[in-house]
Amino acid sequence: MNDYILETEGLGLRYGAFAALGSVDLKIRRGSIHTVIGPNGAGKTTLFHCLTGERKPSSGNIQFAGTNITSQAAHKRVAAGMSRSFQITSLFQNLSVHENLRLAAQGRDGLGALSFWYSDQHRREHSDKADEVIERIKLGAVADTCAGELSHGQQRVLEVGMALCSNPQMLLLDEPTSGMGVDDIPVMTQLIAELGRDHTVMLIEHNMRLVMSISDRITVMHQGNILIEGDPDEVSGDKRVKKAYLGES
Ligand code: ATP
Repeated sequence: MNDYILETEGLGLRYGAFAALGSVDLKIRRGSIHTVIGPNGAGKTTLFHCLTGERKPSSGNIQFAGTNITSQAAHKRVAAGMSRSFQITSLFQNLSVHENLRLAAQGRDGLGALSFWYSDQHRREHSDKADEVIERIKLGAVADTCAGELSHGQQRVLEVGMALCSNPQMLLLDEPTSGMGVDDIPVMTQLIAELGRDHTVMLIEHNMRLVMSISDRITVMHQGNILIEGDPDEVSGDKRVKKAYLGES
């Protein structure tokens, strides 16, 4: 088996004359926590959109788990083991934590609750999956609380839980700590580190303390391209990274 779960070659996305992604060659090692950093507008989210199938790249290709998925639909990538965290806005605010997770597990199987095929056994399986995920994300104390009543930090943790319901090999987390208070960030940091034991995690994150403490590998993007890639020590000591963030290049 190839060491890399995800590989891109010459991945680009243009909006008219503007290249939001230039030509990105990226390799994500199986089982690693690989973080993408870079100043605002560097192309990090655009890269995620191309990987998950929300945007069609203008050039290049993407291999995931040995298959060329460049033109594959987003739902097929989820079925193949790639999952992206949902946004708070996609949580059902009036449903409990458990119900939100059960629905995410149900969605994984492409089953609507009103479907003729939705049996008691399906309901039990999805409920068991929700219980398992609640334990992993440590939200047991609020399992029956409505998502809308959770703290911001807990809602962000629940987003990650929703992504876990599809049994992913690889999790893509877009700024999981954004908007979080300082007290909640260590909880998310620990959760991501734990998830990294069983999954490949690809992360976009601005919190450098988190990035440097849990990343195996860091890719720095700038103006739609990869500026450098390395381990936390290599990246934190590189003058080009400081320049890119200070806008001097
Ligand atoms: P941030 O850290 O601020 O989220 P980012 O690195 O994720 O930034 P992207 O959101 O990927 O950056 O945006 C990359 C560039 O592409 C930016 O200059 C952005 O303005 C531009 N861009 C993104 N979406 C579109 C669009 N739909 N049409 C035109 N330009 C776009």
